[in-house]
Amino acid sequence: MFDKILIANRGEIALRVIRACREMGIKSVAVHSTADSDAMHVRLADESVCIGPPSSTDSYLSFPAIISACEITGAEAIHPGYGFLSENAAFVQIVEDHGLTFIGPTAEHIRMMGDKITAKVTMKNLGVPCVPGSDGGVADYETAMTVAGEIGYPVIIKATAGGGGRGMKLANGPEELETAFRTARSEGKAAFGNDEVYIEKYLGTPRHIEIQVFGDGKGNAVHLGERDCSLQRRHQKVLEEAPGPAIDPETRARIGKICADAVADINYIGAGTIEFLYENGEFFFIEMNTRLQVEHPVTEGIFGVDLVREQIRVAQGLPLSFTQDDLQVNGHCIEVRINAEKLPNFVPSPGTVGMYHAPGGLGVRMDSALYGGYKIPPYYDSLIGKLIVHGRDRPEALSRLSRALSEIVIEGIDTTLPLFAELLKEPAIQTGDYDIHWLEKWLALHGG
Ligand code: ADP
Repeated sequence: MFDKILIANRGEIALRVIRACREMGIKSVAVHSTADSDAMHVRLADESVCIGPPSSTDSYLSFPAIISACEITGAEAIHPGYGFLSENAAFVQIVEDHGLTFIGPTAEHIRMMGDKITAKVTMKNLGVPCVPGSDGGVADYETAMTVAGEIGYPVIIKATAGGGGRGMKLANGPEELETAFRTARSEGKAAFGNDEVYIEKYLGTPRHIEIQVFGDGKGNAVHLGERDCSLQRRHQKVLEEAPGPAIDPETRARIGKICADAVADINYIGAGTIEFLYENGEFFFIEMNTRLQVEHPVTEGIFGVDLVREQIRVAQGLPLSFTQDDLQVNGHCIEVRINAEKLPNFVPSPGTVGMYHAPGGLGVRMDSALYGGYKIPPYYDSLIGKLIVHGRDRPEALSRLSRALSEIVIEGIDTTLPLFAELLKEPAIQTGDYDIHWLEKWLALHGG
């Protein structure tokens, strides 16, 4: 068993990992920038190390600073959380070269899935259904014209190194292709240092359905059903739920098995998410995330498992603590992402929190690093909390969400909380009948 784990992250996810460590009897080390000296993760961890100035490049993303923090504190393993270094293959290699354990997949798997073209080819060969598109990278505009003509418009041009919704451009017809092609390339180059792009058929009204998988690195893997993350703004998830309102048990079992078999085949280790667009009863693979996701709590809620504990276990070579048969869906979970942003335009709103009161009661989980008087620094992601509710069924989860939202108090800063009370009034949200474009359209009508 690990004696001490360093958490290379901040905010609510650092707390999430510290909590799992404490329950497992493992000591935790927090790292922080000078802007985060008063952050909750620093207070809750057993030890903490300041690793640099506010800029994340010089702190949370600094390999030498994080490795040195491990050496100083004697931590044996690093949990990366999500974002920052969680999908950085070069970092994983350095961690291993220093005789430390990275709690997550291997550098090879991260590299394989981090390059979207390689990921797609790999998944296709493993029997996972993919979005129709170019077979690999598209080198020039003339080839793009030919490929797009074959697939049929509309098409989406994607940067192979893209992420977080960046490096993706839509072309509704041939007249829009050149601009889309060149913009996707330059965005890819600017944001990720790689201008390779590929082309996919653009699906008009899909849902975003992702399958949680878990491998032990020895050829065994399970799936933990799906999450529906269709409610998005600018390709960023806003609300997630499990099970998906459009997925029945047979469909879950079928796509889940395809995913579990695929990751078992490549000896995948740890948590992973295989993302699909789902339209007219068909799944189309878009990408795999080789890390724990922000929205993992909805899966934990319906299966009653601790995914971080499981990550820590398999990283030490222990077997998974559940089999596929043990994993039975129980009820319904919904998560809403609370950002420090001012509506209706979602402008970041860092500042000092006044009064803070978290909701509670049966079936309510609040994952947040907030406290009254906390000064939210302007340097990082604006996610300040996740409210997750569990109910025996979807209607109960919805009414519990409404009730929990009525209890939260976050004063002093603007947050996205008012959005959710409004969304809950919508029939489409009550019935679960929405696709990936629903929220954008709704926001356009409501001044967003
Ligand atoms: P990123 O890595 O930037 O998150 P993804 O490939 O996961 O990019 O796509 C993010 C979102 O973009 C999807 O959830 C969906 O909303 C939209 N999208 C991606 N590919 C397509 C497609 N082929 N057709 C329609 N929408 C798409």
